[in-house]
Amino acid sequence: MHAVELIERKRNGEAIPSADLRDFVAAYARDEIPDYQAAALLMAIWFRGLSAAETYALTEAMVASGETLDLAARLGRRVVDKHSTGGVGDKVTIAVGPVVAACGAPFGKMSGRGLGHTGGTLDKLESIPGFRVELSSEELVAQVREVGIAVAGQTADLVPADKKLYALRDVTATIDQVSLIAASIMSKKIAAGASAVVLDVKVGEGAFMRTVADARELAREMRALGEQAGMDVVCELTDMDQPLGHAVGNALEVREAWETVNGRGPADCRELVVGAAAQLLALSDLGVDEEEGRRRAEASLDDGSALAAYERWVRAQGGDPDPAVLPAAPVVRPVAAQSSGFVRELGAREVAVVAMELGAGREVAGEPIDHAVGVVCHAKRGDRVELGESLAEIHACDEAAAERAVGALLAAYEIGGRPAPRPLVLDVLR
Ligand code: URA
Repeated sequence: MHAVELIERKRNGEAIPSADLRDFVAAYARDEIPDYQAAALLMAIWFRGLSAAETYALTEAMVASGETLDLAARLGRRVVDKHSTGGVGDKVTIAVGPVVAACGAPFGKMSGRGLGHTGGTLDKLESIPGFRVELSSEELVAQVREVGIAVAGQTADLVPADKKLYALRDVTATIDQVSLIAASIMSKKIAAGASAVVLDVKVGEGAFMRTVADARELAREMRALGEQAGMDVVCELTDMDQPLGHAVGNALEVREAWETVNGRGPADCRELVVGAAAQLLALSDLGVDEEEGRRRAEASLDDGSALAAYERWVRAQGGDPDPAVLPAAPVVRPVAAQSSGFVRELGAREVAVVAMELGAGREVAGEPIDHAVGVVCHAKRGDRVELGESLAEIHACDEAAAERAVGALLAAYEIGGRPAPRPLVLDVLR
């Protein structure tokens, strides 16, 4: 296999034989192919796309580049996982895990950090004082066995080829290619060894996939990859035009996830948590269908068992589950409506950028973040607001940062006539 020939083939719109693509990825992971050739291939793929066979070969090669963890075999049970393609205010994983565990299905997953405008579950969990995200594979397996739930950072040895390729895609404008995204996400799911996964494919202004058609294509490709690897995959397409829930920012989101497992969270968070939990329970070895899964998930939120599972989980990873100990920003600035009317739009991406500039997110991998800061959007699409009423709150590290955020947050709101209702769950591909 000659790297140049392979790049040339893809550039000309021809298919790359699976074996050559596998060799290329393996050689790149071993640092035997330079970044400039991998970047050229990625750009050719961005323009020409990948066939289903090529996408699977890429996924297989990425899985084979590192260690795999056969969670289900090690536990002797079906293990379920949940993944989001990245949203704003998306704290569903933190609430859905305890629900599934409370209902008796093992929940083990590896999560990532946030980059750009979307937040990462690991960063959110790290806002819990003492919470340890770095678990060895042995610790992860043991905790799922004993506590029923564990969420850890991806180990360095899991899918190293994706880590390298993702970093390269990030700086070569090749992130937003459906087959590359599908292979990247599914390689990590397959390597982590769950039996089934529910993928929340975010759609809209605040997501990778801006249209339902693109999200369906991504869902279709991820389901096909899962099927070839023997993994059940259900994809939910959910709205990401506005943030999920009210809170955007790490500790603020953990508090809202805690409220949700306590049965008091915002309606949209609860809807997604119950929906995903119902799918996960139906995919587990409990022998229940989706409707029964939904009933059990609702009950766990209302009878305290999901909260108890959350507390067991957080303590098992060294954290203090009491929301009173979460870090709080020193400055909380209300933002008042400049006119009366209905919230017609609340731009998810704009809110995320405000939170990121306050310090809640990072533009470059490895940058430190401030877990306490962020935004709480009291008013959301369809809510009626009066002139001077509080639309949102800015949680900042000082007055100057709060002051800088006000204009941008007001610009995220469009106030006017009553908007047409939009569903939260746009489609489910089972
Ligand atoms: N998330 C991933 O893990 N990979 C992508 O390519 C995009 C989102």
